[in-house]
Amino acid sequence: MRQNNWFDPFYIQSHLTEEESNIQKNVREFCNKELKSIVIDSNKKNLFDINLYQKFGSLGILGQTLNSHGGSGTSNLAYGLVAYEIEKVDSSYRSSISVQSSLVIHPINEFGTEEQKNNFLPDLIKGKKIGCFGLTESQAGSDPSSIKTVYKKTKDGYILNGTKNWITNAPIADVFIIWAIEEKKDHKSIKGFILEKNFEGLKTSVIENKTSLKISPTGQIILNNVFVPENLCLKNTDGWKSVFSCLNKARFGISWGVLGAASECWIIAKNYVENRIMFKKPLASNQLIQKKLSEMQIEINLGLASCLLSAKALDQGKDIINAISILKKNNCKKSLDIIRDARDMLGANGLLDEYHIMRHLVNLETVKTYEGSEDIHSLILGKNQTGISSF
Ligand SMILES: Cc1cc2nc3c(=O)[nH]c(=O)nc-3n(C[C@H](O)[C@H](O)[C@H](O)COP(=O)(O)OP(=O)(O)OC[C@H]3O[C@@H](n4cnc5c(N)ncnc54)[C@H](O)[C@@H]3O)c2cc1C
Repeated sequence: MRQNNWFDPFYIQSHLTEEESNIQKNVREFCNKELKSIVIDSNKKNLFDINLYQKFGSLGILGQTLNSHGGSGTSNLAYGLVAYEIEKVDSSYRSSISVQSSLVIHPINEFGTEEQKNNFLPDLIKGKKIGCFGLTESQAGSDPSSIKTVYKKTKDGYILNGTKNWITNAPIADVFIIWAIEEKKDHKSIKGFILEKNFEGLKTSVIENKTSLKISPTGQIILNNVFVPENLCLKNTDGWKSVFSCLNKARFGISWGVLGAASECWIIAKNYVENRIMFKKPLASNQLIQKKLSEMQIEINLGLASCLLSAKALDQGKDIINAISILKKNNCKKSLDIIRDARDMLGANGLLDEYHIMRHLVNLETVKTYEGSEDIHSLILGKNQTGISSF
């Protein structure tokens, strides 16, 4: 009999190495066993169990593409698959892994000294320490060049002042990657610093009234004359290029992750309409419902096929900067559309916690906004096409 490959029509699984397949399988098992059972309650209580970090560490999915300091040395494709599996459960869990891997471990590995790598990477990779990435400020979101956090050089280090806002993990972080500027008469330069939670003058607060990504702790970082010793400046940063290298790494994972959330909602809706009897027949027997299911299948699989191509290109060392903006923008938008349709197909039940869809829907409102909103990625693509910046 012909095998029905409706779930994987492009045979994406056949492009994975045995190692990549095993990583995906292990992470899926972990999600089913450990995350799915707590997600509804944790979301209600705005609760992130920090012990999960050590579990992520034991699974080898923190800084997983690193080949040193305890990293698993996996491909970028495996990193994407992990994001896809984790975000099937909740975008908050995927966000925590993205921040730790792409926004904390990555800059320390790329721009740090050997001493910084040896001091920070092993514990971050094991999940013994939690990191955060402080770029955004209240008046500087889409336009990070407007940040006002400043550094001032002293004899043996730097003094930092400013306030970061909307920072994932800030309330639970041990390690803070902070981006600050120095404004001189004719130029403005940016540098990255590694701060630790016990530094004098560093305080954090929690954003309590967040209605999206509720499991993920988000907060402010207040820096009041914080002294950062010379050896904690990320010396090898190269201006804004370094900031964007972190963001692009995270955006790649997000592009895979949102398809995980969409895929989960697609299957929930499919199961529901196959079993729900309305007008004396299953909802799934209606053409309008099948059209919706087919559109979900099309967009998810086109998204996954493009993610696969971009991962392969990245693993070959190619520049995928345009692909990243295409995927971040399109996959977020399409995933939100899919999740909204899935919600609709469950009628009133689609509003209930136990069907998970509403949680995914409100989560993706955050994912669409952070790491470059949909509009900002249009502007990046427009600029790269025309050579004209509209920012
Ligand atoms: C839950 C959560 C977690 C986050 N975690 C982090 C983190 O860990 N670290 C961190 O540094 N930041 C983090 N952020 C911040 C995030 O990156 C910013 O929210 C994002 O960059 C958008 O900035 P903004 O919210 O100030 O919106 P704004 O920049 O004010 O944008 C508002 C709207 O205007 C549009 N817009 C902006 N400029 C233009 C333009 N030129 N043309 C057309 N439209 C435009 C945008 O697309 C958007 O739709 C997080 C945000 C959230 C919600």
